[in-house]
Amino acid sequence: MRALAEIYDEKDIYLSVYLPVAGKENEHLNKIFVESRVKAIKDALSPDLRSDFEKTFEMAEDFIFGSPVSGESGRIIFASYPESFINVYRLAVEPEQAMVLDTSPFLLPLAKLRADYEDYGMLLVDSREAMFTCIRSDLAEEKEHLSTDLMNKHKKGGWSQSRFNNLRKGAIRSFLSEVADNVQNTCGELQTKGFVIAGPGNAKQQLMEMLPKDAQEKVLSLIDVSMDIPRDELIGEGDSVLHETELESTRKMSRKFKSEILKDGLAVAGVEDVRSALEQGRVNVLIIMKGSSVPGWICERCQNLQPNAVPPEECDRCGGPVSLVDVVEELYELAQRTDADVEFVEKEDFPHSDYVVGALLRY
Ligand SMILES: [Zn+2]
Repeated sequence: MRALAEIYDEKDIYLSVYLPVAGKENEHLNKIFVESRVKAIKDALSPDLRSDFEKTFEMAEDFIFGSPVSGESGRIIFASYPESFINVYRLAVEPEQAMVLDTSPFLLPLAKLRADYEDYGMLLVDSREAMFTCIRSDLAEEKEHLSTDLMNKHKKGGWSQSRFNNLRKGAIRSFLSEVADNVQNTCGELQTKGFVIAGPGNAKQQLMEMLPKDAQEKVLSLIDVSMDIPRDELIGEGDSVLHETELESTRKMSRKFKSEILKDGLAVAGVEDVRSALEQGRVNVLIIMKGSSVPGWICERCQNLQPNAVPPEECDRCGGPVSLVDVVEELYELAQRTDADVEFVEKEDFPHSDYVVGALLRY
């Protein structure tokens, strides 16, 4: 995302297309939608930009109309012929239809999708088997599969029951400690938000206690399920845990935001203040009200960004070319370029509904 947010040009040469692609009916609806957008965009362009756009569209056409691969429900295409640039994302979720030609890739809908469907891990474990699955918004991949033979069958006769139980406990412990090591490494590699520990009985709690502190902090929840739970159900359980966790962290963040605003602390609200904080690299978390957009213009040379104003002939700061933009999208891109986190919140999480954006500040 960061690399995409770095991209911009003075001219409208970046095509962004968002399409739901599952099912026959979408194929038909997409065709109608894309054709009408192509016509509208062409009509609005000057002759030289029109020819660039036609070549860009040609380049992207196969990706736009191509049949979905298995499990693909949505597709995003960013393309620019003059920059020889094309990026295609296949998603397991359906985005809303959109087709935009702009000076940079249109990222906000992708960002929202990613915020709604974050990557996480799912560890299914009992006392003799463990399976780590990484669940992404696009697909679920199995990462590790460990199992152990725990001498459940009394093969070697002659042990007393208590000796057998002690050996068995020891074997479970050493198995779980192996799982703990693996979880530690896998989480480090995957950099997921966190993971859920699922399974029957008390192996979950035992494993939890054996995890190193930083891995413990990544555990989102412990849930009770049987080892033979169907994959879809397991993912469903995990998704609802993640959803709850995200709601909670959003609530916590918006409480902090409100209290910082009230005591005039490390937070700002409103497009103007947020923009200048972003430009100074002071923003830690950019907070965007869901579904918001603010019309405005930007100078493509010096990035002078002005909300709610009629665009001038040229930039009043440097004389560069200006274009109409959604200010919220531009603020989002600024946040990406300055390594700020982005949170999308509901209207009621905001201190005032007039402010569609806010920020928690680093200093
Ligand atoms: Zn300028």
